[in-house]
Amino acid sequence: DVKNANEDYFGSYSSFGIHREMLSDQVRMDAYRQAILNNPSLINGAMVMDVGCGTGILSLFAAQASASRVIAVEASEKMAAIATRIARDNGLLRSKSSSDGTSRCTGVVEVVQCMVEEVDKKIQIEPHSIDVLVSEWMGYCLLYESMLSSVLFARDQWLRPGGAMLPDMATIIVAGFGKGGTSLPFWENVYGFNMSCVGKELVGDAARIPIVDTVEGHDLLTNAAVLKEFDLVTMKPDEVDFTASVQLEPSSSNAESNMSGLESKTTWCYGVVLWFETSFTSRFCKEMPAILSTSPYTTKTHWSQTILTFREPIATGAGKSDIDRSAAIGTDGCPAARINLRISIVRASQHRSIDISMETTGI
Ligand code: SAH
Repeated sequence: DVKNANEDYFGSYSSFGIHREMLSDQVRMDAYRQAILNNPSLINGAMVMDVGCGTGILSLFAAQASASRVIAVEASEKMAAIATRIARDNGLLRSKSSSDGTSRCTGVVEVVQCMVEEVDKKIQIEPHSIDVLVSEWMGYCLLYESMLSSVLFARDQWLRPGGAMLPDMATIIVAGFGKGGTSLPFWENVYGFNMSCVGKELVGDAARIPIVDTVEGHDLLTNAAVLKEFDLVTMKPDEVDFTASVQLEPSSSNAESNMSGLESKTTWCYGVVLWFETSFTSRFCKEMPAILSTSPYTTKTHWSQTILTFREPIATGAGKSDIDRSAAIGTDGCPAARINLRISIVRASQHRSIDISMETTGI
């Protein structure tokens, strides 16, 4: 049930290992740090809320960037205590006025232990009074863990009109991968022995559940298409669940190799890989926008990518004509010029995971 799912979830964030993993993810850290530290017109003097502060790192950046007040909200009791301690040890904790009446305001960070949904029960906060709402809410495949809903709730309650979201855009991207993106090549030759039956079994299993793993850029054989773009300033909470269609085409390097051959060479597309980007665009980050990308083409992150395998590989190849030969599973040998996909991602009822489904469709 929901209560148990929350206990498991916040329990998992109570272990330091996961925080160390996040703090060591340089792509993640660089994007947030750049957005917070290099946009003084946004942060200087601002009232900031950090949704799910963990160790408090983003709040510390905001304090460093001269925010006037930072409300760091964290549901995990253990992490809220840790964040308080860390802010204090670094001289950035906002101290309550001391008993002799003199207010010794050393810092600006205030850690509040609760679900962000209930922060108004813990501290006095005016509705729509926050200038900047920062959060690192992204899960595997962007939406796993469904923390985005909490961020949108906080936006609707406490962000002032025109206030900034950091990040303010999030995009899910999809591309097709070839055999190299599967475990088939590994099992085909193990010290000279053919163990391909294992690879086939694994690929069969993978067709039933999405896998979090990395794919190399050179294993992609189609263009990368935007599956879904979220504008975090305007999106409605129920847009978190969606169905979207994309069309993938063999990428041009692939097409060229096919053209140069005597006959059109068929390449097999084994599935698709999903990844995301979140952006701190010039809408709010006027001095220096930033992008956090979890693409197979760039430095790896702790999110890896998410792999969806087809039940049967789809033959792709550069078609000689413009006629769209749309993909069908169990193709007649005629390579598809395009692969049409419909993918939906919805929150699983009652807990924090997501259900992903994919189908290949006609034109
Ligand atoms: N901001 C930190 C931690 C990110 S992990 C960093 O960037 O390193 C997300 C954190 O949000 C976890 O510590 C989790 O316990 C907390 N969290 C998730 N949902 C929350 C909610 N609804 N209210 C308060 N905290 C939440």
